[in-house]
Amino acid sequence: MKLTAIIPCYNEEAVLRIFYEEMKRVMSEMKDTEFELLFVNDGSKDKTLAVLKEMADLDNRVKYISFSRNFGKEAAIYAGLQHAGGDLTVIMDADLQDPPSLLPKMYQAIVEEGYDSVATRRVNRKGEPPIRSFFARRFYRLMNHISKADIVDGARDFRMMNRNFVDALLSMGEYNRFSKGLFGWVGYQTKWLEYENVERAAGETKWSFWKLFLYSIDGIVAFSTLPLSISAFLGVLMCILAVFAIVFIIIRQLLYGGSAFGWPSMVCIMIFIGGIQLLCMGILGSYLAKTYLEVKKRPIYILKETNVENFNGEDK
Ligand code: UDP
Ligand code: MG
Repeated sequence: MKLTAIIPCYNEEAVLRIFYEEMKRVMSEMKDTEFELLFVNDGSKDKTLAVLKEMADLDNRVKYISFSRNFGKEAAIYAGLQHAGGDLTVIMDADLQDPPSLLPKMYQAIVEEGYDSVATRRVNRKGEPPIRSFFARRFYRLMNHISKADIVDGARDFRMMNRNFVDALLSMGEYNRFSKGLFGWVGYQTKWLEYENVERAAGETKWSFWKLFLYSIDGIVAFSTLPLSISAFLGVLMCILAVFAIVFIIIRQLLYGGSAFGWPSMVCIMIFIGGIQLLCMGILGSYLAKTYLEVKKRPIYILKETNVENFNGEDK
């Protein structure tokens, strides 16, 4: 059996060697398995690529794909999946937050227990800023209410998959990729492993609060159309309210006369309705924007250099 590990790296010079040492230890434990370490350099601005090349010179299990700029972790995962040569593939972070020591257990679940994929979830968020944890929890709860994609709280992208699963992921060539949703969407038999959150071994997180916020919007737009239904529903609700208001005004006019009542309330109502209209247009617009990006069919990433043999560009 050959196992490919896909490791997206963005400015990870501080942690790459530590990661590699730990992987070497685990690889020497799993003697029957042939390994391929496929690092995807996502346009790092530090010496990540130089470190990768150095490692590749010394160890022919080390492969790298280097992008022309930062395309994001999702693009890096996609490029990795396209060029993973193994029977099994695992996606893991470079910062050791996805403990390589779990690999033997994951391997066993697929090879011996017959699962198609093994996913991991952290049971706590120890060491993370509380505000970030709070919003993350809200996001997962919301997502599970509004979309059919089965997205588990605390789920990591750390996942081992067999060939079928990888091919299914690759068959979705969409531009706006939200892996956590895609994993659930493809189905198959998945085993879940749980572990305590591990803090980053070195270096810094690449996800600012703002970046995460935008990512969560991407997730919602990619996997749910409920916001569109909500805006339609709001429209209907406002119409019903308006009918009542009209009836009320007419009756009041007939009973008490005097048609110049209520200019201030009129202004409030106009502002309110204007606000709702803009909100709904915004929601519609964000779906339209995603559609726009999708139909342009731009490549998900652009390659700068690699040592992967037979690298076959974006389409596979
Ligand atoms: N990453 C990437 N491209 C990006 C941001 C992050 O390839 O634009 C990689 C990063 O190098 C790491 C993984 O994604 O291997 C997870 O990032 P990080 O540890 O910074 O995120 P956190 O664990 O804090 O959510
Ligand atoms: Mg991390």
